[in-house]
Amino acid sequence: MTIPATAQPQQRPEWTLVIHGGAGVIERDRITPEQETAARAGLNAALDAGSKILASGGSALDAVDAAVRVLEDDPSFNAGRGAVFTYEGTNELDAAIMEGTTRRAGAVAGTTRTKNPIGLARAVMEHSPHVFLAGEGADRFSVEQGLEQTDPAWFATPERRRQLDELKARKTSSFDVDLKYGTVGAVALDKAGHVAAATSTGGLTGKRWGRIGDAPIIGAGTYADDRACAVSATGAGEFFIREGVAHEICARARFKGESLQAAADAVMAETKALGGDGGVIVTGPTGEMAYSFNTPGMYRGQASADGRRSVGIYGDEE
Ligand code: ASP
Repeated sequence: MTIPATAQPQQRPEWTLVIHGGAGVIERDRITPEQETAARAGLNAALDAGSKILASGGSALDAVDAAVRVLEDDPSFNAGRGAVFTYEGTNELDAAIMEGTTRRAGAVAGTTRTKNPIGLARAVMEHSPHVFLAGEGADRFSVEQGLEQTDPAWFATPERRRQLDELKARKTSSFDVDLKYGTVGAVALDKAGHVAAATSTGGLTGKRWGRIGDAPIIGAGTYADDRACAVSATGAGEFFIREGVAHEICARARFKGESLQAAADAVMAETKALGGDGGVIVTGPTGEMAYSFNTPGMYRGQASADGRRSVGIYGDEE
């Protein structure tokens, strides 16, 4: 889906924010009015949280962190509370955050007790010499950092349990987009001209063997570079890893001078050619905001200092 050229700013807006809550076979006859209302409310709440920070001169990093936290706490989305189940019936959470000024980044995979995994990714970035921690070690680091811990049962919802049961009953695979992706993410540009990206997810329903998706992999599901753009992805992670989606979009913008929309569309087409369904959100120092997805829908929203604000779910919404 392409935002029409006329909708793009003539002048750089002071700040921008784009969010997503996952892509997939999201069509009007497949979700209930209650689910739709809840998802739109969640997207609006995330836009509010991030916009407030950006409007008052806060950083893109704080804005994407705040927006993703709202979506992690919202059971409508596959991140934090409401994360999908592994094959064994547990919740293993992945998250990443990156800022575009010095390209500092932090990521975690397979965490099980940190209430807000995006906060743990940020702690890795700010308080460890590392970029990426996984599993039990990440959980231990979280406790050492004094982050809020929760009983793993807090993440589990009946709807996600039902989806795992359905996957097992249909003997279908984790890539069946019928079951929808629901990763959350945010990208922002702040008044100082810096960008940041954040992504958080439970991964794919029925994932096994310690599987890690694209979301916490810097350059695949998450990337930010002030020289180009900030990207957060959602979709069939294995394909996004192989394509190096988030970095590839930034590289096209930086080296080929493509608009963010053109770069995102080109990379999503290449990902589709590999077999990967999903989508991305992008913003950059020029103030351009873009969505690109090759699925029927994507939970998404955007806001900027020049008053543009919208949320969308289906492919035919602007
Ligand atoms: N990209 C995520 C993963 O592969 C799934 C999603 O977007 O919902 O783990």
